[in-house]
Amino acid sequence: MSEKTKAIFLDRDGVINKEVSYLSNPDMFEFIEGSIEALKILKQKNFMLIVITNQAGIARGFFTEETLMAIHNKMKKILRNHGIDLVDIYYCPHHPDITGPCDCRKPKPGMIIKAKLKHNINLTKSYMIGDTLNDIKTGKAAKCKTVLVLTGYGKEEQKKIDLIKPDMIYENLYRFAKEI
Ligand SMILES: [Mg+2]
Ligand SMILES: [Zn+2]
Repeated sequence: MSEKTKAIFLDRDGVINKEVSYLSNPDMFEFIEGSIEALKILKQKNFMLIVITNQAGIARGFFTEETLMAIHNKMKKILRNHGIDLVDIYYCPHHPDITGPCDCRKPKPGMIIKAKLKHNINLTKSYMIGDTLNDIKTGKAAKCKTVLVLTGYGKEEQKKIDLIKPDMIYENLYRFAKEI
C-alpha cells in the first residue's frame, strides 16, 4: 500500500446506524436510510472505510466488549452481504471519570493516528465524518478534512457551530458519498 491511501473515518452512531444513546444490543442496531448505499459508493471511489467510535458504555458498565463485538459482527456481516468491507473498527472503551485519561477517546486523534500507521493513510486526503462537533475536533486534530452530517445529533450540533467549523455539512452520509 502506498501513502496515497485515502480513507473515510466514520463515526458510528448517528452516521452509519441510528443513534439510540448507548446502543447495547445487536437487535437494536439499525442502519440509517441510505448509509449502506453510501458506503458502497465511497468504496467505489477508492476510499478505505474505517470506523472510529467512542464506546464509553463499556467503562460505564452498560454493556461488555463481547456485546460490542456482537454489534460490530452484525454490522460487518450485513455490509459484507452488500460487498462492502470495513477495513477496521477502532473503539475507545474508556471514560475519563471512570478509567482515567486515555489517548483514544475522541476528540483526541489517537484512533485515527493508529489507523494511519497501520494502513499507511494519507490523512490530508482523508475525511472524518461525524454527527457531533467532537468528531469534527477529532478530524481537525488529525489534519483530515471534516464533515458534519445532519443525522443523529447533527441538527442539534449544527446550532452549536462556533469556533470549531466542519469543512463541509451534508444532510446524511448518502449525500456526502454522492457529491464528494
Ligand atoms: Mg455519533
Ligand atoms: Zn480510550
